[in-house]
This record gives sequence, C-alpha cells and structure tokens, in this order.
Amino acid sequence: MYQELVQKLNAHQVALVAVSKTHPPERILDLYRQGQRVFGENRVQELAAKAEQLPPDIAWHLIGHLQTNKVRHIAPFVGMIQSVDSLRLLEEIDKQAARAGRVLDCLLQFHIAGEETKFGLDEQEARDLLESASFRVMQHVRICGVMGMATFTDDTEQVRSEFRHLRTIFNNLREHYFRDAPHFREISMGMSSDWEVAVEEGSTMVRIGSLLFGDR
Ligand SMILES: *Cc1c(COP(=O)(O)O)cnc(C)c1O
Repeated sequence: MYQELVQKLNAHQVALVAVSKTHPPERILDLYRQGQRVFGENRVQELAAKAEQLPPDIAWHLIGHLQTNKVRHIAPFVGMIQSVDSLRLLEEIDKQAARAGRVLDCLLQFHIAGEETKFGLDEQEARDLLESASFRVMQHVRICGVMGMATFTDDTEQVRSEFRHLRTIFNNLREHYFRDAPHFREISMGMSSDWEVAVEEGSTMVRIGSLLFGDR
C-alpha cells in the first residue's frame, strides 16, 4: 500500500504526510524503514512523546488545533505547524521559535468545509493577519502555504469545490503577499477518503492516516 501510494504521489510531485496519531511508535518505525520521513500528529503531547522515542531525522508536522500555551513544547524540534488559525497563535510561535533559535515553517489553516466544527481562518482573516503590524516584524516564522480539510461527505463535487476554494485562496495570497517568496508553495489538502480529488485540484501535500495505518 505504502509504496504504491508514494509512487502515485511522486508522479504528481505531491508530498506525503503520514498521519500517525493514535498509532504506536512501532507502526511508525515500520513506515520509516520503508522510507517515510514526514509524519503528522494532531496532539502536542503525543507528538512530543513519539519524537523522543523515534529517529531524529523524522520531520514531525503538527496538523491539529494548537493552543498557545503548548507551543513551547514543540517549538525546539517540530518540522512544520500546519494549523495556524490566529494571529495570537502565530505571535506565540514566533516568540518560542526565537527562544529556540529557529525559524519555524507554518501553514495557515483555512475553514473550507461545510461543517462548523472544523478550525480555520477565512480569507479576510488571513489578510488581516498578514497585514498586521505584528506579523510584519516576525522573524522566526515562515509561512509556506495553506492547509484545509474538506467536508466529510460522499459528495465528490462538494469536496472538489471546497478544495478549489482553498487553491483560490492560495493563489490570491501568493499574488498579494508572497510574490517574491518561493517558499510560499504548499497547498496541504487531501486525506484518506479524498486525496485523489485533492491531487486533481492542485494539492502539493496530502495528509493520510487510515489508508496507511488502518482504522483508528
Ligand atoms: C486525522 C487527520 C488526517 C488524516 O485522516 P485520515 O482520514 O485517517 O487519512 C488528516 N488531516 C488532519 C488535520 C487530521 O486530523
């Protein structure tokens, strides 16, 4: 399953984040031995505990909602924070990254789904964030793109239009704020049930859990 998936993604130059939440370190090592180096977790404690036990060349991506008071636990080592959904959070990431002597790669998370429960910014909120005086002086975060989750539904056309919406937001932000920033290039979208649609709609990074590890 893993090799086959990676081959398909490589053909489109799409990166794979293997979402290992709830699965034990042995299962992660299993994929690591097959070549996987990027893993995604949605909880700070679990991510930090696993990072301690597993090889240091794993890039850990935080993909779940992050509370400001937990940023300091992962700032020294995390590979990417995909779930930035407020200026306040980004300010804390900048501060903790500075303390750790790092520049942290981040994605802005957008609310593109019909469901109310999912976290994320809308386009105007992102513009306000990017235009804020506070953002302009940040030196320890690097915004590498956007992330979003589609509605959990069998309606492929709805999912497709939500992914398209995220790509439009990405294009708009790139045009207005990141023209001279080649690192602003990631559209993180697509999970086990909808990654193929996401790739068709321009995803550069999929986050896949159950397809690789089985049900949680
Ligand atoms: C759990 C999770 C995934 C992976 O979901 P699967 O359906 O298991 O592939 C992707 N993105 C986020 C933000 C998640 O929380």
